[in-house]
Amino acid sequence: MSEDVQTEDPQVEKRAFQTEVQQLLHLLVHSLYTQKEIFLRELISNASDALDKIHHRSLTDRNILDPDAELDIEIEVSSSNKTLTIRDRGIGMTRDEVSENIGTIARSGSAEFAKQLAEADDEQEKLKLIGQFGVGFYSVFMVADRVVITTRSADPEADGVLWESTGDGAYTLSQADKADRGTEIKIYIRSDCEEFLDAHRLEAIIRKHSDFVAYPIKVANKQVNDTAALWTRPRNEITPEQYNEFYTHLTGDSEEPLAHEHIVVDVPIQFYAVLYIPKRAPVQWLHTEPTISLNLHVARVFIQDDCKELLPLWLRFVRGVVDCDDLPLNVSRETLQQNPIITKIRATLVRRIIGMLEGMAKKDEEQYMTFWHACGTILKEGVATDAAHQAQLAKLLRYRSSLSDDDTPYISLQNYVDRMQSEQDKIYYLAGESKEVIAQSPLLEAFRKRGLEVLYFDEPVDEWVVQGLQKFADKEFVGVDAAELNLEEDAVELEGVDEQKAETIELISFLKNKLAGRVEDVVESKRLTDSPCLLVASQGGLSRNMERLMKMTDQEFKGSLRTLEINRQHPIIRNMAAVLKRDRDSAQLESWAHFLVDFVLLGEGTVEDPRRLSQSLQSIMGAATEHATEES
Ligand code: ADP
Repeated sequence: MSEDVQTEDPQVEKRAFQTEVQQLLHLLVHSLYTQKEIFLRELISNASDALDKIHHRSLTDRNILDPDAELDIEIEVSSSNKTLTIRDRGIGMTRDEVSENIGTIARSGSAEFAKQLAEADDEQEKLKLIGQFGVGFYSVFMVADRVVITTRSADPEADGVLWESTGDGAYTLSQADKADRGTEIKIYIRSDCEEFLDAHRLEAIIRKHSDFVAYPIKVANKQVNDTAALWTRPRNEITPEQYNEFYTHLTGDSEEPLAHEHIVVDVPIQFYAVLYIPKRAPVQWLHTEPTISLNLHVARVFIQDDCKELLPLWLRFVRGVVDCDDLPLNVSRETLQQNPIITKIRATLVRRIIGMLEGMAKKDEEQYMTFWHACGTILKEGVATDAAHQAQLAKLLRYRSSLSDDDTPYISLQNYVDRMQSEQDKIYYLAGESKEVIAQSPLLEAFRKRGLEVLYFDEPVDEWVVQGLQKFADKEFVGVDAAELNLEEDAVELEGVDEQKAETIELISFLKNKLAGRVEDVVESKRLTDSPCLLVASQGGLSRNMERLMKMTDQEFKGSLRTLEINRQHPIIRNMAAVLKRDRDSAQLESWAHFLVDFVLLGEGTVEDPRRLSQSLQSIMGAATEHATEES
């Protein structure tokens, strides 16, 4: 990733930053002018993580460098040299770790990040992205001319390492004489950033952004922060700003969270938790395996940051910390798995989060919809997979529908049931690629005409959800593209003389013959009013949307054939029937027959055979233009 460049001293290795890092540095130095102070938060956060790691390791492993070193963060200013130094006695880094961690963006999605950063309009957007991707260290170049890192791993065999860069594309690595464990970051402050050489200014920044860091942060030997873990402090003494800052500290997301919940439980198990719901889905979710982002602590000691036993995956949008005194300090990933204490904590957390969402949905629709747009897709997985919580979660679902308007674009299933027609005993839905495609489907005509509401399922997960749910308020879910759909009671009035009926029967048998292999059957429609025809799933067949999903995972997948319904009232169908009566061998008629199917597919957003379609269109255009010239 980074290329070696020859230098005279074989000990000193000069390397170029990974391309993405170079782009990021350029943006950091040239386009982020405000909020430079956050560099300090990022470096302190890294130091705190490094202390967490060694703290946890030292509980079970004494074979480390300086096993009894004090766990703190020291900040020192030299006004004469114009440097700011941040020192921690954390886990440190080996030479390999330095080149892996500092100089590349190791996380997946880094290219995506660089792209989004370049496209972001304003500084707030950029900061959010930087926060979301956790590229914290590089922010130091917003205030630095030069940065020198001296670090030594807690591994007793490792040597000290010196890393140095001016942030302009390259860095050097060499061996360093460092006797003790940990990392020291020396920042040569830029002349326009000298405010960061003022101890008072630094103290204020630390109190604002890093107050709850669990280790003492000392500026000129004076401790600045309150190390009591935020979650152990009385709730009424914590300000909303402090909750927000803690969220940023935990997640790197500099956008305020949407909501938080501070939980203190004494019986039967004693634990604390601070949980957050973010305002938007972190960009990483698109690229990485789903994980649970809750930090687990035991009696204030950090244990692990992705404790997947603490929540089901369908709550993976929740961020926060859990701290339990009743777990042993030496818990490992393996022993967490079947741990009865963890199981109980998990049950409480799930209950509290659902309660939090229910409260939000009831009290503040707008806030709830912000949540829904950011994380609703993930919550839906719970309805599909978690039988124990299904009924409760179903009430939290929101959909657009054929009766939505601008005032209430989304409705709940309860809203749907409440405004159902008196004899209606089913909940109707239509699944498709997007709201736009669904809304213009001819399948909706009969429902519109009868004033029946149809839910729009525009996400792949939606049909999976109703398969799990089956019913809501005792009403069954029915897709309006099901062939057996029975709206006969008040079927569209079919007027017309017997002669016309006979012509339609003729046309149907003609179409069946010509379209064999493309459609399962051809029948007269009872549900169409404005469109000439539509395609419905044959009885027992998969719905159209399910087939679309199958095709996405399996290129070879061949969907089952559908039934073509034709509207005999429609001029196109009537004309075709008349032409058929006059000339059974009309070549045009066969091409029109195929066009009927293509016409429906086009509306659904698929073109099966572009060549055939364009030929049909050409012949139709030909006939139409000819007709127009004849008329004039
Ligand atoms: P992030 O902290 O989000 O991972 P950074 O760019 O800030 O991203 O840091 C990259 C990595 O460098 C960290 O994940 C960590 O492994 C390492 N690192 C940074 N600072 C320190 C430090 N003070 N001590 C030990 N390792 C560190």
